Order: sequence, then structure tokens, then C-alpha cells
Amino acid sequence: MNQDLEALFVRLQKSKFRSSFKLKKKELNYFHDKGLPVILGHGRDFINSRLAPANPPNDGKQTPFGKHPVFVAQHATATCCRGCLQKWHKIPKNRELISEEIDYVLDVIEYWLKNEVD
Ligand SMILES: [Zn+2]
Repeated sequence: MNQDLEALFVRLQKSKFRSSFKLKKKELNYFHDKGLPVILGHGRDFINSRLAPANPPNDGKQTPFGKHPVFVAQHATATCCRGCLQKWHKIPKNRELISEEIDYVLDVIEYWLKNEVD
């Protein structure tokens, strides 16, 4: 893992709120049922529709607190909305995400999920 991600996860672990998110049994079962590539495919769709636009609808409330493993991962990693992306990941609001940023968000989510299901 690169050093930036390592530093990020150290910061996330220090947050009581962020580190409180865990996959519940249903979400874990769903994860194992579908497998990581399919789950990350859903994640890419979620990011493209809910996070990538310059001004996503309902920003700050667009990510449910459960049901899909990616939603849980987003809250745990502060990739849930553009406000959190700006605060935690230094990705500015009010402009569309570029493809490198979308890949970065997915890397963060993937890392959290792998760690969680281990
Ligand atoms: Zn947020």
C-alpha cells in the first residue's frame, strides 16, 4: 500500500465515528455471495452517479448507512459525500471528479473492504 493510503487509514482509525462502521452479517453475506469484483463494480456505479458530479443531489445525505457493503465502506473511509472528500481527502467540491480521483476513491474502498472481510 502506498504511504498516503497508510497515513489516511491511521487518521481514520483515530476517528471514533469513522472507525465505528463495520459490516453486519447481511452485508458480509452479500459481499461473499457476489465477490469483490462485482461489489467494486457496484461501487464504481455509486461513485459515478452519487459522488462524481460537480454538485451531486442531496450532497451530505446521498449515502445510506447500510444495505450495501460499499455504502458502509464509504462512511468508514470518509468517501461518503463531497464535503467529506474535501475535508479528509483534499478533493475540492463544486467540480466534477476526474477519473484518477474516482479510481482513488475505489482504491480506498477496496482497501477497507479487504481489511474488513479478512
Ligand atoms: Zn460525508
